[in-house]
Amino acid sequence: MEPLIANVLVFIFGMMLGSFLNVVIYRTPRNESIAFPSSHCTSCDTKLKWYHNIPIFSWLSLGGRCAFCKKSISKQYPIVEILTAFLWLGLFYKLGAVWYFPFVAASFTALLALTVIDIKYYAVPDSINFFALLMAVIQPDILKLEWSNPLVSAIFAAGGLWLLAKIIAVLMKKEAMGGADVIVAGTMAALLGFPGFFLALFLSAILAIIPSLFAKDTMVPFVPFLALATLIVYLFDTQTSTLLHWIMYG
Ligand SMILES: [Zn+2]
Repeated sequence: MEPLIANVLVFIFGMMLGSFLNVVIYRTPRNESIAFPSSHCTSCDTKLKWYHNIPIFSWLSLGGRCAFCKKSISKQYPIVEILTAFLWLGLFYKLGAVWYFPFVAASFTALLALTVIDIKYYAVPDSINFFALLMAVIQPDILKLEWSNPLVSAIFAAGGLWLLAKIIAVLMKKEAMGGADVIVAGTMAALLGFPGFFLALFLSAILAIIPSLFAKDTMVPFVPFLALATLIVYLFDTQTSTLLHWIMYG
């Protein structure tokens, strides 16, 4: 158990990063720079003061409205800030203060951005997708030429899925999977290794069934389920591998 102060700092950092993530989520699909200009209201374009930029608290104190034009600010802003904060706290609780914690957390944060963008815009920007993969391979066994090497895992998972998609495309005469899904698969395998990767794929398929029962005919984005399943298997690796063993051997 890490000291309380470390947990609080990680939580606050996650909240601040979540605030930046909202900017990334808004600007990346619009091909705008994520660095310039500084935060402004998306309705009236007024530049925000520093005290309008405090994660969660600003949104609450302003009653979810812009301080200048009073237009309502999407609930997405505080929700993403809270989710990022708990994501960092959960991963810190799991990993502790190891050197690769920020890289793993950054990879999952990028997956969270992809999740929100996929839900809002049905898009998976390459820049964020490749960033998630890059962060995921920076782990302890990266220099060992073994199956536990995250880069080797990523190449096998992405390559295998790409090959499978090509075979299905030839057989069914239509594209089954996008290139973006293949990159996400690489990130998943780098984070989870094997057989965790397969377990997460299986779990994401089960999770994806739930909304498709309610929303027939509409397109259901798949990246959110891949990301959620990856996080569940990563945080609960012992429990999920026990479950897998039970499924396979009874
Ligand atoms: Zn405004």
